[in-house]
Amino acid sequence: MSNVILIANWKMNPKTSVEAKKIFSGIQKDLVKMNGVDVCICAPTIFLPELSKLLKSKKVSLGVQDVFYEGTGAYTGQTSPEMVKPFKVTHTILGHSERRELGESNEFVARKVHYAVSKGMTVVLCVGERERTDEGGYFTFIRDELEAVLSGMKRADLKKIMIAYEPIWAIGKRAEEALDVTSLYEMVLFIRKILTEHFGRAPAQKVPILYGAAVKVDNAPQFIAEGGVNGLLVGSASLDPKQFIGISKAIVTKK
Ligand code: PEP
Repeated sequence: MSNVILIANWKMNPKTSVEAKKIFSGIQKDLVKMNGVDVCICAPTIFLPELSKLLKSKKVSLGVQDVFYEGTGAYTGQTSPEMVKPFKVTHTILGHSERRELGESNEFVARKVHYAVSKGMTVVLCVGERERTDEGGYFTFIRDELEAVLSGMKRADLKKIMIAYEPIWAIGKRAEEALDVTSLYEMVLFIRKILTEHFGRAPAQKVPILYGAAVKVDNAPQFIAEGGVNGLLVGSASLDPKQFIGISKAIVTKK
C-alpha cells in the first residue's frame, strides 16, 4: 500500500526564518521515526535557502505555494520553477483558492501547471467551490477548474499531478465545520470520473487525490479511512509541529 501524502501549506507564515526552521525541524525530527507517510512542506519562498539546509530525510520534501509560467523575464514579483529548484524544491501548490481570489483565472492556473510540470515539478493542483447549494452547481464548478488544466495535458504528465480538493467555505474553520466524509467520497469519485474521461481508467487511478480544509487531529483519520483520498493538505495545523505530527500519527494508524 502506498504511503499517505501530507502536504503542509504554511501560507504567509511564520514571520521569521528562525521560527520557520524551528517548525520545520520539529516536524522532521518526529517524522523520521514514522513509516507510512510522505510529507511535503510548502513554505514561503524566502525561507527556502535556510530550510533546504535542514532537509535530512526522504520522508520530507520541500515545496512552494506558487510558481510562474516562465523561467526568467519582465514579470515583477514572480518566481520561476528554475529559481526554486536549486533549493531542493520538488513540489508546488498551484491554483490555491486564496490566489484565485486575487484574480487568477482557470486559464492562468493551467498555464502555470503545464510549465511547472514541464520543468519536472510535482504540482498540487487545488480545486474547490465557494459554496454548496442543493442544485449541485458546485460539481460543474469543479469540472471547469479541472478541465482547464487537464485538457492541455499529456497523459505522461499526469504522473506529476496531485489534485487537492479544498471546499473554500471550510478553509480555516474548526474540525466540526469541515466537509462530511460521505460528501468527500462523492467528490473523490467525481474527480476520478473526470480524470478517467480524459486519460483512461488506469492512469486516472494513479493520480493522488487529497482533501484540504479544516483538517485537524480529530477528523484526519476519518478522511483517510472513509473519504477515498490518498492524503491531506493541511493549512493552519501544519504550523504547529505537535498538531501536525499528531495528524501524521493518527492517519498512519488508520491506513
Ligand atoms: C488551505 O488553505 O490550504 C488549508 C488547508 O487551510 P486550513 O487547513 O487552515 O483550513
